[in-house]
Amino acid sequence: MDWIGARRKYLTRPVFAWANKALPSMSDTEREALEAGDVWLEAELFTGNPDWQQLLDTPRPQLSAEEQAFMDGPVEELCGMIDDWKITWEDGDLPAEAWDFIRQNRFFGMIIPKKYGGLEFSAFAHSEVIRKISSRSATAAVTVMVPNSLGPGELLLQFGTEEQREYWLPKLARGEEIPCFGLTSPEAGSDAASMIDSGVICRDRFNGEEVLGIRLNWRKRYITLAPVATVLGLAFKLRDPDRLLGDTEDYGITVALVPTDLPGVTVGRRHLPSFQMFQNGPVEGEDVFIPLDHVIGGKEQAGQGWKMLMSALAAGRGISLPSLSAAAAAFSARTSGAYARVREQFNLPVGKFEGVQARLGQIAGTAYLLDAARRLTCAGLDGGRKLAVISAIMKAQATNRMRQAVNDAMDIHAGKAVIDGPSNYLGNLYRAVPVGITVEGANILTRNLIIFGQGAIRSHPHLLKEMQALEEEDRETALEKFDGAFWHHVGHGFKTLGRAWARNWTGGLFAPAPKAGKASRRYRQLSRRAASFALTADFALLTLGGALKRKEMLSARLGDILSELYLLSAALKRWEDEGRKSEDLPLLDWCMADGLATIDRSFAEVFANLPNRFFAAIARFVIQPLEAGRRGPKDRLTMQCAELLLAPSETRDRLTSGLYLGRGEDAVATLEEAFALSVLTERARETMRKAGIDEPETAVANGDITNEEAAQISNYRAVLARVVAVDDFAPAELSLHATPTNEEPRPVRAANA
Ligand SMILES: Cc1cc2nc3c(=O)[nH]c(=O)nc-3n(C[C@H](O)[C@H](O)[C@H](O)COP(=O)(O)OP(=O)(O)OC[C@H]3O[C@@H](n4cnc5c(N)ncnc54)[C@H](O)[C@@H]3O)c2cc1C
Repeated sequence: MDWIGARRKYLTRPVFAWANKALPSMSDTEREALEAGDVWLEAELFTGNPDWQQLLDTPRPQLSAEEQAFMDGPVEELCGMIDDWKITWEDGDLPAEAWDFIRQNRFFGMIIPKKYGGLEFSAFAHSEVIRKISSRSATAAVTVMVPNSLGPGELLLQFGTEEQREYWLPKLARGEEIPCFGLTSPEAGSDAASMIDSGVICRDRFNGEEVLGIRLNWRKRYITLAPVATVLGLAFKLRDPDRLLGDTEDYGITVALVPTDLPGVTVGRRHLPSFQMFQNGPVEGEDVFIPLDHVIGGKEQAGQGWKMLMSALAAGRGISLPSLSAAAAAFSARTSGAYARVREQFNLPVGKFEGVQARLGQIAGTAYLLDAARRLTCAGLDGGRKLAVISAIMKAQATNRMRQAVNDAMDIHAGKAVIDGPSNYLGNLYRAVPVGITVEGANILTRNLIIFGQGAIRSHPHLLKEMQALEEEDRETALEKFDGAFWHHVGHGFKTLGRAWARNWTGGLFAPAPKAGKASRRYRQLSRRAASFALTADFALLTLGGALKRKEMLSARLGDILSELYLLSAALKRWEDEGRKSEDLPLLDWCMADGLATIDRSFAEVFANLPNRFFAAIARFVIQPLEAGRRGPKDRLTMQCAELLLAPSETRDRLTSGLYLGRGEDAVATLEEAFALSVLTERARETMRKAGIDEPETAVANGDITNEEAAQISNYRAVLARVVAVDDFAPAELSLHATPTNEEPRPVRAANA
């Protein structure tokens, strides 16, 4: 027996027997989810020794001339057409002219190739469009984002037959067909694969001919665009009890296109999601018959629905909600900074108080980080990858941080943001936040179960190979394959242990970093945490095996560490891409300090809760021998970030670029005007304050300020009064929406008519 044979027999075999019991077994849906999509930079982080050059070599995402023209033309124009207050409280829908404009300008065809009549935009351009519209109206943004995200368009592109693409894609691109996507049903929410919606293979008449097809019965709810959709991408469980297709009886989850005007389909009723007026509602079908060629990808794709959905999700989820969230954080930064400068209390702008600065600094850092991560993720998607793990990180992290940023913005604006009306530019965004948290994989599930659960298996350098080996039917082949993967894993484990120990015990001083100017030492800190993460993940997997899936609190913390490592890599990349601007360094440093503190806290919590106390003690000894880690951004740094929002600067403009900031009398435009006038009149107002004079005319008479300055101050005061004003209503205006009724629900527009 050679050495390998002996190793396999005496060393690997017992481990193999243990691993068969300990490692998570995979259900079909889990396997399909794992097979969908690609891994990218997160796999580098999982090695414990990331190759930073791969990050730095990633091309900076940029708009083509055509995409830029679309941003400056149709997107700007669409934003100008939208009055979110009117949509929400008067019309209950986007105005008809906005719907037409969206269709005519092919907003619904951003991901559709030009040869089918679409715009064929890059992921970055698509994201920029959603971002800008989001800064105007979440309702409009969701309306535009859904057909470009998970749904018939994406599914047809990835899995449709050429015939299906040629038929559907031009109509979808032109907005002649409005798509929606139906997965969620009353009994199956997060556990979507447990749906009972059914399709049975049978023969029936369709367009006057008898054909082989599927009889469908379903009840879906929460479906965005369903009330106005003309075609439904439907997920259901397909069965063939009479074996009309072949030998299989249960095909499993399948996706088909169902025109909503077929007999038996009911659409039109609406849900009211957090008072956002994008079209959303139930869609039901009773004995609806479709021919077999309505299955996306044809009959070969029958039963492949789950894999298709996971793959489509890996693409769309990285763009839609992260773009909306990045917009929300940047919008919060821009408006809160401006408002905190112009709103005075105790004779000072409220932005000068440390309590307010703590929130402003946090908003600024969050806006920097989210946009960095959005751009990096778009760059990854534009590289042709379907980012399964990263898109889950982005969805959960971006929406969660949006919630924090919008909450902070609400608190800073206080009564101004609480009182609803046309001059409140934050209230509706605040209401939209829970929608982002809930859809496309609710956040608790995504954070606790998916990010590390899927990330560990997909991105770990050896784990998936080990699991795949265990699944081999032939036990000797399984042992042989497991042996190879396992010993590579052991070698990797020892290297990781050495790295983690050396990097942590030297404070990361000698950890690898690229030549990145002032940012180099920040890369070293990430290299240090990446080694610690790889070691801790291995310990958790080794000691818990498949049980880790149920230990969701531990899994969530490991997922948080992986997420922070990705987000901080993105922040470093942004700083590099933007030309290493030293004036932006406080923002980068805030992100690093905040993220490293979260990472260190998460490590400490994992060590405190890992059931195997022996391995927990080793990990703590190697990773956090002396201290519990970083404490977060210093107050001075947070204040520096806050100051960046309180005065005009290139940094502030970079942080909030690409937002729609209103026109004319609009509330945001008025705030912008007040902010500019506040800066312009600062010196003159200060002179008056010091002289104890309140009236500009008196100050002119005293020779303290010029006539021109006096006029500017009067103008500023008038504009400021409009900023500070809130709306009020005659009681009858509000009672329209307050009367509960048992009648058939009607769209708000009808109730107003
Ligand atoms: C406005 C809106 C638009 C939507 N649009 C669409 C659409 O267009 N098409 C479509 O098909 N669906 C759509 N959905 C459905 C959406 O994807 C689901 O709401 C979502 O999947 C969660 O399902 P649920 O709301 O039933 O929550 P539930 O599944 O009931 O979950 C309740 C809570 O438990 C948590 N949870 C569940 N399981 C676990 C677990 N194993 N571990 C940890 N936590 C867990 C969840 O995170 C959640 O916090 C939409 C929903 C909304 C609200």
